[in-house]
Amino acid sequence: MAYNLSNLVLDHLKGLSPYSSARDEFSERAEIYLDANENPFSPYGRYPDPSHLELRKSLSALRKVSTENILIGNGSDELIDLLLRLVVRPGRDKVLYFTPTYGMYRVSAEIAGAKTLEMPLSVDFNLPLGPTLERILKDPDLKVVFLCSPNNPTGNTLPKEEVRQILSSTSALVVVDEAYADFAKESSLDLLETYENLVVLQTFSKAFGLAAARLGMAYASKELIAYLRRIKPPYNVSTFSQSLALERLKSYETVTEQIQKIIKERQRLEKALAKLPSVLHVYPSEANFLLVEFSESKEVFQYLLSRSIVVRDRSKEVPRALRITVGTPKENNQLLSALKKYNA
Ligand SMILES: *Cc1c(COP(=O)(O)O)cnc(C)c1O
Repeated sequence: MAYNLSNLVLDHLKGLSPYSSARDEFSERAEIYLDANENPFSPYGRYPDPSHLELRKSLSALRKVSTENILIGNGSDELIDLLLRLVVRPGRDKVLYFTPTYGMYRVSAEIAGAKTLEMPLSVDFNLPLGPTLERILKDPDLKVVFLCSPNNPTGNTLPKEEVRQILSSTSALVVVDEAYADFAKESSLDLLETYENLVVLQTFSKAFGLAAARLGMAYASKELIAYLRRIKPPYNVSTFSQSLALERLKSYETVTEQIQKIIKERQRLEKALAKLPSVLHVYPSEANFLLVEFSESKEVFQYLLSRSIVVRDRSKEVPRALRITVGTPKENNQLLSALKKYNA
């Protein structure tokens, strides 16, 4: 069965007439606004633009994707939730993802009432391509496949050829979560023109340095974006967040400089960590973190905490592994000197 969006979208949402806000009904400029029950005495009294038009225009110029193919969410977490609620029939439909990976796919899928299918990634954290996966991809109840590239917490990127293979083997939506793509060599955005069932998620939380603002973006077919827009809360992104993001995009050179600094620090950390006797393996990373296998990860974790350094214990997902975010050069030096003392 070929991909068909109207087969995927839940029947009760197809006919939904969305909430029409005051700002939807009048989006031009006026002198006096008496349409939205706002407090006229406050400098923060006005509702934000529900369509995020300026921000979508700015992203459109940066990413070379039309504004109609972009939706802004309150973090990518909101977009994951909206996507699932658009297509999952509770108790019936299935959602597939590959572990270890970002925990929100499972949580949001379960909230939407999906049956979750977890397939382990291979030993080198690549997709488990083969007949089992082929069969699952053809399951008519499969509605969403999550691919995370670069993957959290492993740091590796999925080869684009394999992403293509998944996209063309299924009629489900394939979500490629690219939260860390700005640190990586390539993105799947250029596949949007070829694959109608592709959704690329990006975020302002990592490379753009705006985790506090809660902003994520979905890039997909204009039909899918139109459905998502109809079910999103009207004022899901605040005026402050929209303008912070616009400012960041205006000084995009600063963002790229920071990305370059972080990548350089990641490479330096990777080399230095690999030399430590307590480190068994540093996994290759195209993100802003490193997954590191220690001989005694629990002990190292506690030791670092005692020196006021917090890393993420991922040893339940990957044996003996800690996930370490790349910090400032000073923070990274402090981490390295603490680990050297641990070894001494
Ligand atoms: C950090 C992260 C996100 C970001 O989510 P936001 O809600 O946009 O902050 C999304 N996906 C992955 C895999 C992440 O690691």
